[in-house]
Amino acid sequence: MTDHTEPSNISPSNPAEPTQSPDRRGLYIKTFGCQMNEYDSQKLAKILESNYQLVEAPEQADLILVNTCSVREKPEHKLYSLLGEVRDLKARKPGVMVGVGGCVAQQEGQNIVRRSKAVDFVFGTHNLSLVPSLIAHREAGGLPQVAVDYREDWEDYPLGFPEDGRISRFVSISRGCNKNCTYCIVPTTRGKEVSRAPEEIEREVRIAVARGAREIVLLGQTVNSYGLDFSPRQSFVSLLRRVADIKGVERIRFTSPHPQEVRSDFIDFVCENPKVCHHIHLPLQSGSDRILKAMNRNYRRHRFLAIVEELRTRVPDMAMTTDIIVAFPGETEEDFEQTLDIMRQVRFLNSFSFVFSPRPGTVAAEMESQFLPREVGFERLQRLQQLQEEHGREALESWVGKRVDVLIEGPSSFDPTLMCGRTSQNIVINLTAAVPQLEPGALVSVEVTGMNRYTLSGTVASGA
Ligand code: SF4
Repeated sequence: MTDHTEPSNISPSNPAEPTQSPDRRGLYIKTFGCQMNEYDSQKLAKILESNYQLVEAPEQADLILVNTCSVREKPEHKLYSLLGEVRDLKARKPGVMVGVGGCVAQQEGQNIVRRSKAVDFVFGTHNLSLVPSLIAHREAGGLPQVAVDYREDWEDYPLGFPEDGRISRFVSISRGCNKNCTYCIVPTTRGKEVSRAPEEIEREVRIAVARGAREIVLLGQTVNSYGLDFSPRQSFVSLLRRVADIKGVERIRFTSPHPQEVRSDFIDFVCENPKVCHHIHLPLQSGSDRILKAMNRNYRRHRFLAIVEELRTRVPDMAMTTDIIVAFPGETEEDFEQTLDIMRQVRFLNSFSFVFSPRPGTVAAEMESQFLPREVGFERLQRLQQLQEEHGREALESWVGKRVDVLIEGPSSFDPTLMCGRTSQNIVINLTAAVPQLEPGALVSVEVTGMNRYTLSGTVASGA
């Protein structure tokens, strides 16, 4: 599951430049949830680019798109409170059009239109390409429409991305999920797993590189089950190899592999190919075999630990991050201790942890008799996050005084006169001194001189 990003809005490339040209209207996209949604929002901007250009704030927009997430409760609440604000905006600025997409849209469909008069159309996770016709229908005076049909095939969008100068690009390689974890709504909202044709992926990566990207992040709900639905089957590793062979791709990341689908060819490739970053986000969810079984996660703690051990034996600086759910129905203190035990053994660089929240329509939502009191969940989450802070700090400390390769991404958010980038382990590093002619996309060697809570700082090594 890739649900660990904060809400974001897709922004124009350079906010210092005028944000709107007279012939294109303003488009504001609010994105909740995972990287898959971020990718879809980029695609929406691309689909609409002949008529719309991205703007910084809803007030500047003629079209507002909200790309929703239903993995947890909060983003749903955020949708409805955002729609309240949008309704007020529409009262002040009539003619603004509002579309709601993503997982909540897929699930709720008509209910969204019924519940909010501000909404002009709703589009599901398989219907991005219909957005221009939904807009046209509404502009022609039609009633609000809802398009949430599933597709069995890969939905075709225009290849490429909005011109925003990103060095790191998401490229979606599959959609949907066949795993049916008992707590997860994704198989309902995104449908069955469908892999994207490798030629398409390669074309999109080549476009990304031609536009300046140096790092490619391959996205899939269970990214390493890529190609299993093809006949004959293909492997994720064959796709990784194809992407790694593209000139101009300096770094490859992917998210999220599923522990059950980790095979030896995958470990070999990840450990041996110099373009694959030394960071794996491997969702654990629980350290208790009993809870993993109840979650329908088809691996056990010893398998998870064996994967980490092999990766770390072969690549000692491999950073691991994970997702963890606490207080799953029926989780005992002993189960929870098992999760902490795995954390102590693996020492994750970071983890995205949440208290279980029942999603209507999932198997776990029916386990009501075993729900834990909220305060137990929050107390466990606090203990877990405290431990994570220690491990994260310890991991960052271990880099101070060392030299690391950094892919420069752009100006630092603390000081726009200085650059920042990322290490192979996906740690943000801020440069403490300006370097003439250092451009985004450069791969430089950096001496790590210090750390903050979640980031490192350093200077470009002499001779680099
Ligand atoms: S069903 Fe499981 S594997 Fe699939 S997206 Fe949900 S959490 Fe991830």
